[in-house]
Amino acid sequence: MNRKKIEKNYIYKFCAVLLFCMAFLSGCGEKKLETTTLFAMDTIMELQIVGDPKLLTEAEGKIRNIEKLISVTDEDSDIYNLNRSSTYEVSGITADIMDKALTMCGRTEGALDISIYPVLKAWGFTTGEYQVPTEEELSILTKNVDYRQVSLNKNGSDNTFTATIPEEMQVDLGSVAKGYTSTMLSDYFRENGVKSGLINLGGNVQCIGTKTDGSLWKVAIKSPFPDSSSGIYGVLEAADTAIITSGGYERYFEQDGQIYWHIIDPVTGRPAHAGLSSVTVVGSDGIVCDALSTALFVKGLEESVRLWQASSDFEAIFITEDGEVYITEGIADSFSLSSEYHSAPVHVLTK
Ligand code: ADP
Ligand code: MG
Repeated sequence: MNRKKIEKNYIYKFCAVLLFCMAFLSGCGEKKLETTTLFAMDTIMELQIVGDPKLLTEAEGKIRNIEKLISVTDEDSDIYNLNRSSTYEVSGITADIMDKALTMCGRTEGALDISIYPVLKAWGFTTGEYQVPTEEELSILTKNVDYRQVSLNKNGSDNTFTATIPEEMQVDLGSVAKGYTSTMLSDYFRENGVKSGLINLGGNVQCIGTKTDGSLWKVAIKSPFPDSSSGIYGVLEAADTAIITSGGYERYFEQDGQIYWHIIDPVTGRPAHAGLSSVTVVGSDGIVCDALSTALFVKGLEESVRLWQASSDFEAIFITEDGEVYITEGIADSFSLSSEYHSAPVHVLTK
């Protein structure tokens, strides 16, 4: 993987990790905090629990296992082999992620599409060797983007599934992998008696319970604007929930004065420009939040609000390109702007 990309990712994600770390420590009291940091799924991950440290070792193994199954570059992975052969017998975990991701592709009417991968490759987002593809190239590639053509069937009684995609298609579960993983880990920790913890997978956060003193977690919502001095737009107080943000600022390149980022509109094959700078989705199911954060960024505010109004499993914070905040009523009282952005307009969305 591209070295510069790793370094850039490292720096900004490290700041977020530090902040969460501070948030955790401030609430820990005497109970012993166990913590581990690892690099997986292209990002820094930090797991903190009040509980048996062996759980962290197990958790790390679970993360590595998921990564090995769904990596697009590991020649032994389910997804690598599916992309190479168009049909492949995949493990139960891969099938579970794929099935849930496909449900979200449908729910977002294709704003999320796991078959966008060849388009991302054409832009160089998979290698860091960035380039702007031609219109012709994009029109050919987008013809093969259609999650509805992915099929997944259970094989008899064992826990394997056969996944099939058209020959020209390639899939990637990267847009939802961290959300899936964070909920899987928080379930695992809870089942093993953990009452307080924080899972931070490169800024995709899932909190378990509250801080040990009973107060809520304070999770920073990053500023999507590169000229920010504090890096923080606001703070959300939360307990027992996933908080997942997508924004163009996370990965991009500049060419001829234009910025091109890594969230692609599957219809055009070009970086999504729907008026938003970042979308944070809050809810109990990490894969739903992760899928929605990407998809709502593609959809823009108006369509996203309609989707939220018709749903009952998530809340959201939208930061527009102009720096205005739109926040859904369920979390409006839990959010406060940072001092740097104290005068930003905040609008509460109602159902
Ligand atoms: P990250 O995983 O970088 O934290 P996201 O969850 O927003 O951020 O996922 C963005 C990633 O998903 C991109 O890097 C790209 O690999 C992939 N992607 C981009 N656009 C789409 C899309 N419309 N549907 C599905 N995946 C996408
Ligand atoms: Mg996402």
